Amino acid sequence: MSDIDTKATDAKPSNFIRHIIDDELAANKFARRTWSGAPGPAAQQKVGAGDTAKIRTRFPPEPNGYLHFGHAKSICLNFGLARDYGGVCHLRFDDTNPEKEEQEYVDSIIDAVSWLGWSWGDHLYQASNYFQWMYDFAEKLIESGHAYVDSQSADEMRANRGTLTEAGKNSPFRDRTPAENLDLFRRMKAGEFADGTHILRAKIDMASGNINLRDPAIYRIRKATHHNTGDTWCIYPMYTYAHPIEDALENITHSICTLEFEDQRPFYDWLLNTLAELGCIDQPVPRQIEFARLNLSYVVLSKRKLIQLVEEKHVDGWDDPRLPTLVGARRRGFTPEGFRRFADMIGVAKSDSWIDFSVLEDCMREHLNETAPRRIAVLDPVKLIIDNYPEGQEEECLAPNHPQKPDWGKRPVPLSKELWIEREDFIETPPKGYFRLFPGNMVRLRYGFVVKCIGCDKDAAGHITAVHCDYMPDSKSGTPGADTYKVKGNIHWVSAKHAYATEVRHYDRLFAVEAPGSGGRDFLEDINPNSKQVITAQLEAALKDAVAEERFQFERHGYFVADRVDSKAGAPVFNRAVTLKDSWSKK
Ligand code: ATP
Ligand code: MG
Repeated sequence: MSDIDTKATDAKPSNFIRHIIDDELAANKFARRTWSGAPGPAAQQKVGAGDTAKIRTRFPPEPNGYLHFGHAKSICLNFGLARDYGGVCHLRFDDTNPEKEEQEYVDSIIDAVSWLGWSWGDHLYQASNYFQWMYDFAEKLIESGHAYVDSQSADEMRANRGTLTEAGKNSPFRDRTPAENLDLFRRMKAGEFADGTHILRAKIDMASGNINLRDPAIYRIRKATHHNTGDTWCIYPMYTYAHPIEDALENITHSICTLEFEDQRPFYDWLLNTLAELGCIDQPVPRQIEFARLNLSYVVLSKRKLIQLVEEKHVDGWDDPRLPTLVGARRRGFTPEGFRRFADMIGVAKSDSWIDFSVLEDCMREHLNETAPRRIAVLDPVKLIIDNYPEGQEEECLAPNHPQKPDWGKRPVPLSKELWIEREDFIETPPKGYFRLFPGNMVRLRYGFVVKCIGCDKDAAGHITAVHCDYMPDSKSGTPGADTYKVKGNIHWVSAKHAYATEVRHYDRLFAVEAPGSGGRDFLEDINPNSKQVITAQLEAALKDAVAEERFQFERHGYFVADRVDSKAGAPVFNRAVTLKDSWSKK
């Protein structure tokens, strides 16, 4: 996949899926799939004919919601395997369910996977384009006695399915002849029957210890319009029937899914092996491999809950920077590289576990630390007046763009008589160990001069309105005199008359507890009331020119991004992506 512009991190992840693939490749299991042109059954799409892909994986989202952080794990896993093994990864819309699926979701999924830096080349597929194959295969199963039309009511079917400890009972319709079944199935397709009156089931074993093998439903009547196929169909395949066929038709070698599908694997194998025996598809059939889904503390990843948060307006839409959606993360200032680093770091395991949200934040911090230029921002401003600095005078100080990357250079920042500093950098009567501004103390104005605090102004309520100081003209950073003053405090500032005042949003975790909704609570009760704070900040003048999605470190504060929705040319607003240090672990 040479078109992927991203590199894996240096350490190649090793995991049980990679071990499986290594062994299979060593045994030449997928020889056929190198596509020397060997003919297969006509039904099988010749996906990849002529290419030399060694393996084929797929990411198969159902377009019924926005992608979230859990999907990012699956995306990085599937596309990452394809990249590392000289394979291809398909993006497939698993759109076999006529309800709930919308173009808006299709578009957002395409954007999100691309944003993460992955490319599917020509391999974008839609499962609904395979409906005819799925239907034809169902007829083949019927003709060969592997499927039958059941006409029990839903209640009867449930009652006869049995339990984990008790075998199920055969349906009275189980012994219909293939001719009878075919006739009924065709009439189901022709729209002769109402929803729920008949269903097509695989004929396997009602006494199986695995409930999924007790004659699972494979086609149902559903008189609904589909977003791709319109009203062509009024019967639709069940997910468990459709998915293996989609994989087979696309010549997928490894069908990687989350653990809850483990019990479905015997049916996956039964179906594909039966279809292969019937000559519908080619051998070797795809192999299903399950891995542990991502569970992330302080986050909900259930589509139903995410939809509820958006629809009930607990957040400002799907791309709210607090949501664990990929559009939200993008607006928040999280980076694709951070997500890939995270995926590599957490690895892939066979049993469920929880990952602390701080692990993801650390991955973002690491990447942002390497890539975000430094800027100065005063987020809770109070005036600092340099009494002995000449009125009307100004000069430039030089601030490095990245402390560890001298080659990124320095930029001029203007200094004048009145500055903005952080309110918390002055305390009139300081506690022990406070080294910043208080009357009589000296601090360095970062990249500028040493100043000595001489007092403050207050309003009638005793609120501090300005801090006063004198500066030492021979103490400018980068000049020979700079070292003659020994000070313990070092504070940032922006020149008041040059500053760019703008909106800054402080985003924090959306939920205040590790496991939202645990202990029987409504998960909405666990929303962090302080997850969004909007302030007006005083920023260094150069930040006025930031373009949407440009990311910076605001020194001493954290990483911020120019919001991609609300920023205007010459008037960006900023979102906090992540603080410099984790402030949650100690709580
Ligand atoms: P649904 O309940 O609608 O099926 P879903 O979360 O499974 O929800 P899909 O669109 O079917 O959503 O998911 C696409 C792919 O993403 C699937 O292969 C699924 O296994 C994977 N996936 C979904 N959630 C996670 C998660 N938390 N961690 C890892 N992979 C996930
Ligand atoms: Mg799913």
